[in-house]
Parts: sequence; C-alpha cells; structure tokens
Amino acid sequence: MQLPSKSEVKSRFMSQALDPVLRVALDVPLPRLFDYLGGAGAVPGSLVRVPFGKTSKTGVVVAVAAHSEQPAAKLKAIEAVLDVPPLPADWLALCEFVSRYYQHPLGGVTGMALPPLLRQGKLPRVKKSAAVSPAPTFSLPVLLEEQATAVAAITGAHGFAPFLLHGITGSGKTEVYLRAIAAVLERGGQAMMLVPEIALTPQLEGRVAARFPRARIAIAHSGVADAGRTRGFLDAHAGRADIVLGTRLAVFMPLPRLQLIVIDEEHDGSFKQQDGLRYSARDVAVFRAKQRQVPIVLGSATPSLETFHHAQPGLPSRGGGSGSPRSGSGPLNGSALGRPGGGTGRYRLLELTRRAVAEAPPTVRVVDTRREKLQDGMSVALIKAMSERLQRNEQSLIFLNRRGYAPVLACPACGWISGCRRCAANLVVHLADQRLRCHHCGLEAGIPRACPDCGNADIHPFGRGTQRLEATINERFPEARVLRIDRDSASTPTKWAALLDAIHAGEADILVGTQMLAKGHDFPKLTLVGVVGADAALFAADFRAPERLFAQLMQVGGRSGRAELAGEVLIQTEYPSHPLYQALIAHDYAAFAAAQLDEREQAGFPPYVFQALLRAEAGQLDAALTFLGAARDAAVLLGGGITLYDPVPMRLFRKMTLERGQLLVESASRPALQAFLAAWSARLYQLKTPRDLRWHLDVDPLEF
Ligand code: ADP
Ligand code: ZN
Ligand code: ZN
Repeated sequence: MQLPSKSEVKSRFMSQALDPVLRVALDVPLPRLFDYLGGAGAVPGSLVRVPFGKTSKTGVVVAVAAHSEQPAAKLKAIEAVLDVPPLPADWLALCEFVSRYYQHPLGGVTGMALPPLLRQGKLPRVKKSAAVSPAPTFSLPVLLEEQATAVAAITGAHGFAPFLLHGITGSGKTEVYLRAIAAVLERGGQAMMLVPEIALTPQLEGRVAARFPRARIAIAHSGVADAGRTRGFLDAHAGRADIVLGTRLAVFMPLPRLQLIVIDEEHDGSFKQQDGLRYSARDVAVFRAKQRQVPIVLGSATPSLETFHHAQPGLPSRGGGSGSPRSGSGPLNGSALGRPGGGTGRYRLLELTRRAVAEAPPTVRVVDTRREKLQDGMSVALIKAMSERLQRNEQSLIFLNRRGYAPVLACPACGWISGCRRCAANLVVHLADQRLRCHHCGLEAGIPRACPDCGNADIHPFGRGTQRLEATINERFPEARVLRIDRDSASTPTKWAALLDAIHAGEADILVGTQMLAKGHDFPKLTLVGVVGADAALFAADFRAPERLFAQLMQVGGRSGRAELAGEVLIQTEYPSHPLYQALIAHDYAAFAAAQLDEREQAGFPPYVFQALLRAEAGQLDAALTFLGAARDAAVLLGGGITLYDPVPMRLFRKMTLERGQLLVESASRPALQAFLAAWSARLYQLKTPRDLRWHLDVDPLEF
C-alpha cells in the first residue's frame, strides 16, 4: 500500500479544519445518515463517492452542515463528487417522504431510486441522440363525448388534481392519456406514465412513440439495459426527456417540468414492490402529484377498492386520516371513514361507459357444473362453444390461472405427496420437461417412477394446470392448433413476442393460458373466453382475492370480441349465483365494488382501516415468533389507537428453508399508524435478534 505524501496529509488536515460536513445517505441497512468532510462543490443532491469500511460507496448528499455530532477526528473525507448535476430538492423530499412512510432507511430509498450506473458511481457513455423523425401524418380519432369530457377535465385542472378514469377495456382510456399528454407537451411540460409490466405490453411503447414522434421518451423498466436506464434518468433530470414511460421504478425519475402523471391499470399488484423497499408506486405517485401540485390520472377497468373508495362522494371532511400517503393537510384531506357505504370524495371520477370501437362488451354466462360430470375439466357447453369457434375459424381462449401440468404428484396407496424440502409447499408437476418444480423457490427434481415412501408404481398427478389442459384440448380437438401461454412458455421477452406474433398471425385456434394473456392485447379473432378453476378464489383466506379475481376475469373477458365479432365469456362454476359472477354478467363493476366495500367496512378491512405487517424470518419458526412477541411487547408500551394482533406463522410459513411469521398492526387513523410505526421501528432496531433473523415492515401490505 502506498502511504499518502506529506502534502496530501497536510491538505487533508486542512480540509478537516475548513470543509463543511456532508450528511450522506448510503445504501446500507441502517436507519441513519453518514457524515463526511466535503470536497468543494458538493451541495444537497450531489452524488458523492465516499470511503466506507474497506470499500467505497456512492451516496447522495442530503444536507450540508457546519458541524457533525461525531468527533472531528473520526470524519473521513469524501473521495469524489460525481459529475452529475445535483438532484433537486423535490427529489430528495420525495425520497425522505418514502423513507418515513415505509419505515425504510433513507439511503435504501435513494439507492433504489437511482438508476443502476449512478448507484455504482459510474456514468453512462454519452450517446448521440437519434435523429428527430418527421412530423406525424396520421389523423387522430374524433373523441367520444365521455372521452372529450375526461380530457377537458384533466387538461383544465390546476394544481393537485387526482382523477380516477374508470372505463372498460377498449373504452379509449389510452386515447385519453395520450391527449392529456399531448396538451402537456404543447405547454412545454414533462409527463410521466406508469404501467404495470411493459414487457407484457410492448405495443404501448410503440403507440406512444408513434403518437409523439418529436418527443423524447425515456423508457424505464427492468428490461432496459443499465446504461440506457441511467441515460433515461439523466435525460429526465436534465429536462431533455419529455415523457417518462415505465414501470413502478420510474416513479422516482427526477422531472423538473413535471405537469402530469398517468397510472395505467392502477389496480395492478405489480405497482407494489414485494421486497426490499416495499413501496406502492401508485401511492407514491399520488404523493408526488400533491407535492408538485400537478394532476394525476389513475386509470382502470377495475379500480382498486382503495382508489374507488376515494372516488365515491363522501360527507364533508371530519379531518383525520387519508387513504394514500400524503403529507400535511389539503383541501382534499377527508376522513378515512366517510359515511357508511360512501367514499372520501377525494378523487374525481371520470367514466367511460362504452367501448370505443366494438359495439358491445362480451356476453358473460356462467356454466353450472354442480350436476355435470366434467370431461377432463370441461363442460359440454364449453366444448360445444369451442367447436363452434373452430368451425367459424375464430379463436378461443381458455383461462386457467395455474401453470404446470398438475399442482401435485401423489401416491394413493400411502398418502405421499411431492413436497418441497425448502418450502411449505408442493412441487408442481411439469410434464412438458419431465420435472417437479417448486413455484416458490425454484427447486427442481425428476419425476419419480414409483412412490419414494412405499414403492407403489401407481402414482398420479392430481389437479389441473395449463399444461394438462393443453394436453386435454389437443386430444379432444386434434385438428386445432393449440398454443399455451404462461410463464413457462413465455419465459423470455423474445418467446413472449413470438407467441404474440403467432396469435396475431392467426396461427392458433385455441389459446390456453394464465393471467399473462389478460394484459392489454388485442386479439381480433378471439370470440370466446372460457374460464375454468376460478372458484377457489371466491373463498380464499386473503380478503383481497375476490377483488383480484374480478379484475382478472374482467380483463381476460375484455380480450374477446374487440373487432367486428361479438365476444362471449363462459365461466364454469359450482357457485353460479355468487354475487361476483352476477356482477360480471351484468358488467357492473360499481355493484361489485359497493358490495365488497360494504363487506370490508363490516369486517374492518382496508380501506376502512390502515394496516402494516411486521414480518420476521429465521431458521426456526420459534425464533421468528419469539422476535415478533418481543416486538409486540415493545409496541404495547407505545399504545394509542393501534390494534395489535398476535404473531402468527405466515401462510407459506417456510420458504427457501427460512421459516416466517408475521404480526399485523392496524389503526382507523393513518396519522396514528404513521406515528406509531416511527416510534416502533426505532425500537425494533434496538431489539436483540439471533444472527440468522431478518425482519422488515410492510406498510399497506397487499399480501398476507
Ligand atoms: P383502453 O385503453 O381503454 O383499453 P384504447 O384507448 O386502447 O382503450 O382504445 C381502444 C381502441 O379504440 C384503440 O384501437 C383505439 O385506437 C380506439 N379508439 C379510442 N378512442 C377512439 C375514438 N374516439 N374513436 C375511434 N377509435 C378510438
Ligand atoms: Zn406411497
Ligand atoms: Zn420450494
């Protein structure tokens, strides 16, 4: 190792005497900032490289102070200031809000908010900007009346204005977004549009680019290469990008001229990150719109009940809680509860009630399977409907939200079932590649010829997944071309694109697939959607399961009959009169939502209460539960308007050999919950834990 030269020592000494103290957010799992002595030119928002332990790390300067609480002799100097314009104050404030709201260290938030290269302290190579394309030559569709009303409301809004754009698939929501974005670009502003999974909807990117050929568009999702994502971030930051289009991570892009935020499919669960920083990009976006005083449009055919609740009229404000993360008080600061059966009135509801192109939405029917002996899982009515489509040269789609051949392999002689040794879950039979596979941890094994316990050779796959359905349909309709679409067959974007091409080219008669198929695609020849095996979600332990099922069925049903051909949806069920199916038949989302909200209110579930989960995992379940017990004891002392439940094992209590428990806390008041969580998490960091124990807080959890 080379010793520092005398002059270096001297200059370091000098700088210690003169330099201000930089408070730096570093991506380490500790809820604190780190003080360094600053080089010239570092200001709040600067990215700096600093020595940390034996390595160096990149962090964000949060504040510049005259003094540190640490002894001056202990302070180290930063290594370098990155050649990036400092991030603006509102970006730092956004990260600070997210850190407070989700009880996550600020350095973890800034680390996650920065694009990959900046996180590593690197800069992307400059790329020559592509030539600007000529002006558009297409003509825009004439807006329908409801679309025009929606566009006028959004473009005429001033300051913070949250909208729920509620319209079925094909009702022209995207057209409304594009018009609103066009107005923003005309005024010289920047727009941000978030979508659930861009990989599943590649044509959206094309549609936006085609509409705004002169606009500079930054695409941000995990499929974009590191350098490209980093360039997009810097372009947005410098004001060079006009439109940011991306998935949840794009919510953190700095946008100096931000004038509009659009969240498409706002109900989609993928807006919530399920590990590390467990943030909801939708809720963060609402905060951001408030912070920047701009309109935000949340669009969906099946809004989340939280959002729908905010778009229902409420009583005049009683003050108190609010439904999504926001700070301070504002004109829309309504009560969490509103009136019974009513909403909070915080969002303005814009409705598109008709399809923009096809005449009518598909006819939805239930097929009562209680008295019928199904043929390989399919009813006579469904088989007949499929044959008709085949004769007419139209497409059918059979929806089954379970991939693999069968959920489990079992021995009828001794009761053995194929279990995962790392998880509290079964190994799924994948006959296509002759494997047993755990869908939670990826563990694989060959398919045994005989029962490993008793040697019985007569072991069977039980239940039905997409592969089995595909095989069944192939047998029954040997003349049909059957395509299976799930995460196994579409495991890469390339495979997925090839499948989509095949469907569009009319190379498939029958599609078998999971909810992957439900996302934003037009299949012009598709006129039949069959739904099998959906009943389980009606009675699932998770109170959000019906909401998800309704959204999935609406979405998958919306795939049929988009062109001139009428569509039909057949749902096989043993509960034909269930209100969820009845609401689908009537195309009545509002009735479904009202009934669900009613149930949630009676049962004391969100959006009528606010929840957080403390989860812990360790080698042994006991250790996790003991920690949660101690956490609960610490919480009791804090008291005040909070309901604490008992620590319980998680439903999937073992995953990847780790055993997991959780503790639910809730409150009718958002501010009370927030204050409690802040005090509680400070104590949690002080609790003694076994070496192998990990814990985290999940605020507004979606999964239990
Ligand atoms: P959504 O986003 O609600 O599914 P889209 O905006 O994608 O709906 O519209 C569905 C289809 O209807 C698209 O092909 C779109 O180009 C077309 N469309 C939308 N609005 C109109 C309109 N006012 N007139 C004619 N076609 C329209
Ligand atoms: Zn056996
Ligand atoms: Zn497993």
